[in-house]
Amino acid sequence: MSSKTRGDCCGDGHDGPALKLADAQARILADVRAVAGTETLAVRDALGRVLSADARSTIDVPSHTNSAMDGYAIVGADLAADGETRLEVIGTSAAGRPYSGAVAAGHCVRIMTGAAMPAGADTVVMQENVVRDGDTAIVGAGQRPGQHVRQAGEDIAAGSIALRAGTRLMPAHIGVLASIGAGEVDVRRRPRVAFFTTGDELRQVGEPLGEGQIYDSNRYTIFGMLTRLGVDVLDLGIVRDDRVAVQQALETAAEQADAVVTSGGVSVGDADYVTETLERVGTVGFWKVAMKPGRPLAFGRIGDALFFGLPGNPISVMATFYQLVQPALQALGGIANPAPPLTVPATTASALRKKPGRREFQRGVLSRSADGRLVVRKTGRQGSGVLSSMAAANCFIVLPEDAGPVSEGDEVQVQPFAAFV
Ligand code: AMP
Ligand code: MG
Repeated sequence: MSSKTRGDCCGDGHDGPALKLADAQARILADVRAVAGTETLAVRDALGRVLSADARSTIDVPSHTNSAMDGYAIVGADLAADGETRLEVIGTSAAGRPYSGAVAAGHCVRIMTGAAMPAGADTVVMQENVVRDGDTAIVGAGQRPGQHVRQAGEDIAAGSIALRAGTRLMPAHIGVLASIGAGEVDVRRRPRVAFFTTGDELRQVGEPLGEGQIYDSNRYTIFGMLTRLGVDVLDLGIVRDDRVAVQQALETAAEQADAVVTSGGVSVGDADYVTETLERVGTVGFWKVAMKPGRPLAFGRIGDALFFGLPGNPISVMATFYQLVQPALQALGGIANPAPPLTVPATTASALRKKPGRREFQRGVLSRSADGRLVVRKTGRQGSGVLSSMAAANCFIVLPEDAGPVSEGDEVQVQPFAAFV
């Protein structure tokens, strides 16, 4: 069936039944398998990459029981029940230069933060709680046996898994890898994602605009979102609204990439060839999602490549990418269970127009009010073509499917853009 002749059956007068966004997200993720290839990289070069195997530690971290404070290493049993304890200072343990002897009852060792606990000692007293009188340390009352000691392996035990396969390596993760002494690490190869935009009205930046023409801004937003995800990006340019041109571009893209993303031409206008071409050269998983902005949208496969046919409207492109494409590409790259973007409650300072039916992603600016509450204000006109409303925003205001209009002062859920990559 061609996209022009689909039956009209979707709640609000568009053709075809619309899927709820959560169902669409689940169906896409159920269909994605991580790319198989892996490579071994130096740990620093692996920043932003995805672990392909569990990283197991062969050592305890920390490797030795050590002091959490500058002070004195003592035998806890020496501490007087109440009142002072007098101990003889027999040596020093500094970080990297441990005391080689043992500490017996009645003795103590001067110790620095991170220095190995000497044999026999099990407690550290902060230097602020000790008065020195020559070789005698006078420990004040109120100390607890066992205090201020970090046990060997309390961070990561030898033989345990330090990081799981499927972890995207952020600065803390490459630090953990260094802490277990790993110089290299196995990561997934980057997924290759090809994209092109469609539309006879599109011109490239640098070309003059003729009548009825616009600059191809989706090419830049899609490039930006893909690049921030850390995939290999293949830009196939602008494709004309022409059956043959769209088919050739889709086939070329699918041959070269693990996933293909397009913008425009997925609707039911006379020049919308993407969905019907997908039906010819691949398979369509579904093509309409009950979200705004964003519908219609095509998801499917061409050969082995995943396919996402995003709408043409610039805001729709970004909203559908973040909600549907990004989690799928994260899974393709091997990230285990890509989490849905974090949402937080905020009070809206703007009344919001909304009709029940679709899940809406309005553009907002989230800030903290003088009395400490999170407050969100919408950014101007909310049309799906108004890209400047996205540029001015720092969050989506997420209005659920069944919600109607929202009054000023109501609580809404927002997705800070920081939750995206
Ligand atoms: P379409 O989905 O192809 O019908 O496009 C919907 C709307 O988005 C039209 O107003 C297009 O001009 C606009 N549009 C499509 N592609 C782009 C693009 N690459 N950059 C900016 N606007 C676009
Ligand atoms: Mg078009």
